[in-house]
Amino acid sequence: MRPSHHHIATLSLLALGLAACSDSIPAPDEVTFDENVRVFTAKTIYTGNPDEPQISALIVNDQGRILATFRFGSHAYATTPDGPAEIINFEGATLFPGFVDGHAHLLGIGQREMTLDLTGTASIDDLTTHIEAVAFDAPADQIIYGRGWIETGWPDARMPTAADLDKAAPNTPVILIRADGHALVANTAAMTAAGISADTPNPAGGKIERDASGAATGIFIDKAMALVTSLIAAPTEADIATALETGAQVYASRGWTGLHNMSVSAMEAPIMEALDTAGKLPIRLHNAYDTDGFDIAATRAHETDTIQNRAVKIYMDGALGSRGAQLLAPYSDQPDTSGLSLTSQGDLSDTVSRAATDNVQLAMHAIGDQANRRLIEMAERMSPTVGGMSNLRWRIEHTQILDMSDISRMANSGLIASMQPSHAIGDLHFAPDRLGQDRLAGAYAWQGLLDAGALIVGGSDAPVEVGSPLIEFYAATARKSLDGISGEGWHPEHAVSRAQALAMFTSAPAFASFQEDDLGTIEVGKLADLTAFNADLMTIPEADILKAEPVATVVAGQIIWQAD
Ligand SMILES: [Zn+2]
Repeated sequence: MRPSHHHIATLSLLALGLAACSDSIPAPDEVTFDENVRVFTAKTIYTGNPDEPQISALIVNDQGRILATFRFGSHAYATTPDGPAEIINFEGATLFPGFVDGHAHLLGIGQREMTLDLTGTASIDDLTTHIEAVAFDAPADQIIYGRGWIETGWPDARMPTAADLDKAAPNTPVILIRADGHALVANTAAMTAAGISADTPNPAGGKIERDASGAATGIFIDKAMALVTSLIAAPTEADIATALETGAQVYASRGWTGLHNMSVSAMEAPIMEALDTAGKLPIRLHNAYDTDGFDIAATRAHETDTIQNRAVKIYMDGALGSRGAQLLAPYSDQPDTSGLSLTSQGDLSDTVSRAATDNVQLAMHAIGDQANRRLIEMAERMSPTVGGMSNLRWRIEHTQILDMSDISRMANSGLIASMQPSHAIGDLHFAPDRLGQDRLAGAYAWQGLLDAGALIVGGSDAPVEVGSPLIEFYAATARKSLDGISGEGWHPEHAVSRAQALAMFTSAPAFASFQEDDLGTIEVGKLADLTAFNADLMTIPEADILKAEPVATVVAGQIIWQAD
């Protein structure tokens, strides 16, 4: 039933003046809507839209679409059929288009919350102390499984070994995944249970680290990890559902409205769909499946309003820390290796032709300069047959180390660079050892790539990193460690501006997920995905970015998380 009269809600916007600023922006005294609307306002609102960079309020309908925006100085009155429009005022906060993590692993983010989290472990001693405490209570048949250690800042300056862990857990198998997911350390009990001996050969694409006598040290790299992780029971569907839900809630609470979810296994697709249908997956997901999910991406199966299934992830190489990144020239600190290729040229060409035919987006992991060059050359070869690679919106995940001559080639290739600012400020502690000073000029080369015209999607790679929009925004703009320090070879000229960083986490991920008509900026006609922080990230001193906090997260006009 229609109410007999219209209530009028008054929006008193900032008292900066009464006149409208521009002819092109509507600033009427009263706007009547024939549907229910909500008004969002805040101290400052950055839109990401260069035609109207800042506004004072936006009006959103029940479907979450933005119907109107208002600028400073205007007084707007919103009327709806049901009475006054609801006004959601984030008061002292600053509102942005929704921050999207362009590369993370939702399942791993949830699992990190639920298993032994070794993030922040400070030394080998610290690590073994953690394990000792858990092993003391562990039943005889349990396997201790943890994740998140990384030795790069440790005083020991080496990876842990089986012998280190044996002191803490002589009988219980222990398997601890390095933060980057590309290496693990196992103790002797785990290696014995897995049947590892000095005679066990390195599998293709993997390496068992050995001592001078040829015995395994406990470190397993890339595809060798499966030799020991096979001991761990696969998680049940219920475990996976719990982890995905937990991960999504953690992400909403950090201010992320969406996540480009990498390396998703096919079995997760129906679980995510069911969770979302039940209202338990509050953020948007753009999923990139392992190759076992190729058909899901090709048929767009199990999609919902907020879940998109059209991408597949492949791996060209490993990671830099564990010397799995495929380099053009040998490692500076281990000249007998140039890293690992995880995809042969033959497999690459099969995958790219199938993906092009089936209109599947490829998200291609490449860290080393050799791995990146192989993809750039592939794109240059394919471009004429697909009418330009930019149509496909294929992405290089990490794009971490480029030969200097490949920066402009990358920009011209039509491939999207998907990069993680926090990797640089973590890796630059050890990257000079691995690469030498000369090769650092093209490493984590954000500004060089932007200047050359490339599109960069920003991400965190959580659970490899924390997965915080504020840490990523700081890393991208400061290019300093979290305590404000930069070192030789850190190339501060590759830091980006605040506006560029904002684009990396808002408009760029929208484009890289084919959603730029709906997401990425605050504009009339788009969906109201919004992130509110308690500080103005565009103007506060650099060091204060890390002290800022999320205030609220809005997806399609619905508040999915709000600070207490
Ligand atoms: Zn990743």
